[in-house]
Amino acid sequence: DHKANIIDGKIIAQTIRSEIASEVSSLVEKYGKAPGLAVVIVGNRKDSQSYVSMKRKACAEVGIKSINIDLPEEVPEAELIAKVHELNADPDVHGILVQLPLPKHINEEKVLTEISIEKDVDGFHPLNIGKLAMKGRDPLFLPCTPKAICIYNYIYLFYFLMLMGCIELLKRSGITIKGKRAVVVGRSNIVGLPVSLLLLKEDATVTVVHSRTADPQSIICEADIVIAAAGQAMMIKGSWIKPGAAVIDVGTNAVDDSTRKSGYRLVGDVDFAEACQVAGWITPVPGGVGPMTVAMLLKNTLDGAKRVIIQ
Ligand code: NDP
Repeated sequence: DHKANIIDGKIIAQTIRSEIASEVSSLVEKYGKAPGLAVVIVGNRKDSQSYVSMKRKACAEVGIKSINIDLPEEVPEAELIAKVHELNADPDVHGILVQLPLPKHINEEKVLTEISIEKDVDGFHPLNIGKLAMKGRDPLFLPCTPKAICIYNYIYLFYFLMLMGCIELLKRSGITIKGKRAVVVGRSNIVGLPVSLLLLKEDATVTVVHSRTADPQSIICEADIVIAAAGQAMMIKGSWIKPGAAVIDVGTNAVDDSTRKSGYRLVGDVDFAEACQVAGWITPVPGGVGPMTVAMLLKNTLDGAKRVIIQ
């Protein structure tokens, strides 16, 4: 009875966080300066507030100074942009994160474009995305979710080596992302598109499946690496997965569940129970990509700070 290896995002993220914590404390020791992350939230959306408080808590845990900017729902666009400029100029701020979505009267793109590219820890600045798309250019930051996925693939390699041993290593030394057939399901600006560009940079052969794709199953079943980011609960069935494939499930969907106190539970875009019988590697939802995304945000802030503090 085949069972995929389950990639535990929580444990891996925790490991990364403790590495970051020790780097932060040695920065403070040597240079007397801690990395600073400005987390800006506009309005009172419950989901946004819980993401923001999670990010602020994660900063505190690793010794990153979190600069909290809480603005009222009705703040004028010009005032928010002025705040961004102030943070751009503040030498103690190494990363700026503006929690999305912004209220309707504010033009998101206009605000994001004002964030200094050196402090764009979310990696959403059009220049960062543009550099990600161009051959031979490296963005200063990668959007946090795709970066987390990239690390998963290195871990995939690591487990593969442990299991198959040295001979297999020689036979298949090309086993990272390089040369693999990767299928990304979804083409959004924040997940699907940048992740497909990143996989292309890593020398995978990439196909992007979206809502207008005819017969997605026939394409997904050829993938060595499947990245699911469609936001469609359990749309990818076990029978769609190529045996042994690595499945990274970014999807986070709430489905009704009367057995839970909350009345719902979170599921991915992949039918996890089915896919476990076929895939070589799979990330669970929750506890897969999610925790890694925050860990990568901390890593980006640390990297941004190091660029400024260590000269
Ligand atoms: P969007 O809704 O912005 O994009 C969804 C994409 O999936 C679109 O490109 C859409 O195609 C495509 N799509 C929708 N339905 C289908 C279908 N039936 N078959 C094939 N493709 C389809 O979502 P996001 O990219 O923002 O997020 C995707 C998922 O990832 C969500 O569940 C979200 O909650 C989760 N997420 C998780 C994160 C984490 O840290 N774990 C971080 C960010 C997001 P089209 O372009 O044609 O409309």
